[in-house]
Amino acid sequence: MNETIISLPVPRIPRQRGRLKNTPVVGHKRVLLAAPRGYCAGVDRAVVAVEKALEHYGAPVYVRKQIVHNIHVVSTLEEQGAIFVDEVDQVPAGAHIVFSAHGVAPSVVQAAAERGLHAIDATCPLVTKVHREAVRFARDDFEILLIGHEGHEEVEGTAGEAPEHVTLVGSPDDVDTIQVRDPDKVVWLSQTTLSVDETMETVRRLRERFPNLQDPPSDDICYATQNRQVAIKKVAEEAELVIVVGSANSSNSVRLVEVALENGARAAYRVDYANEVKQEWLDGVESVGVTSGASVPEVLVQELLDDLAEAGYTDVQRVKTAEEDLMFSLPKELRKDLTGARDERALGGRNRS
Ligand code: SF4
Repeated sequence: MNETIISLPVPRIPRQRGRLKNTPVVGHKRVLLAAPRGYCAGVDRAVVAVEKALEHYGAPVYVRKQIVHNIHVVSTLEEQGAIFVDEVDQVPAGAHIVFSAHGVAPSVVQAAAERGLHAIDATCPLVTKVHREAVRFARDDFEILLIGHEGHEEVEGTAGEAPEHVTLVGSPDDVDTIQVRDPDKVVWLSQTTLSVDETMETVRRLRERFPNLQDPPSDDICYATQNRQVAIKKVAEEAELVIVVGSANSSNSVRLVEVALENGARAAYRVDYANEVKQEWLDGVESVGVTSGASVPEVLVQELLDDLAEAGYTDVQRVKTAEEDLMFSLPKELRKDLTGARDERALGGRNRS
């Protein structure tokens, strides 16, 4: 058995207090803290699913791909006994495996079953919704123009539901070169974690080429992605610098940097950890915007706020644009085995901003 464990490119560097200096600025130093930020309901559910599986079945529990795209979450779960693999053929027959929040193609589910694995599907229900749409439109013989990033696990999972019917549209510029069988039978779907504005631009251009393009029954870009983008837009109107906590492979975190830059921030950076913040980013900066991607635990934001406070940014003003109270119940395979579990985490949901 080839047991390739997913490598973690950014090992945690021990925290170093007092690293950032409190240099003078013209005005009043402050932090504009976006809300909502951080964990969404789908990430919370997926992480708790792995934790509960470890508690209930004991280590190791295998996880296909990163359970969520955050290096800190993955390394913390590894310490607790989770083993992250790329494919199900790297998992011993009969073992427990969790499918990540990004979802899997039916071929992966089948491969796990053939290997006799006990699979727990932590696919976010909002990703599952898009899978169902893909299945339904393929059944009605539509050509599905799937807006998303090539190679992203979510896109691979959704496309895997109906590979013969799906054409990937990576950006607005791709629209000009797309070929379809029947321009009157096309529908667009999207990855859940894209930039809302860029996706709408792609759809506008698609509709120019295919006037009878059908819309999905409801938004595919999820509430959490949308809410975090709305909040950072508001922050970016006033913040000179925006710092987004999130990992490089986190689509929604990377989008937050882009959205901040498009909406007024003079500079915006993404960091996994507070100790990646460079002193020169803060030079002459009065207002720092802070947010985090949907897969980021709040502890990492708190570390950033602590470091910024040492640099004189002690006035933290919350910029709240939405309330979030959505919670998802744990995957059904796990709930079945956890009968009698009555604590709050059995339902998912914690870490609200
Ligand atoms: S970002 Fe959206 S789709 Fe992805 S896990 Fe969170 S709620 Fe689900």
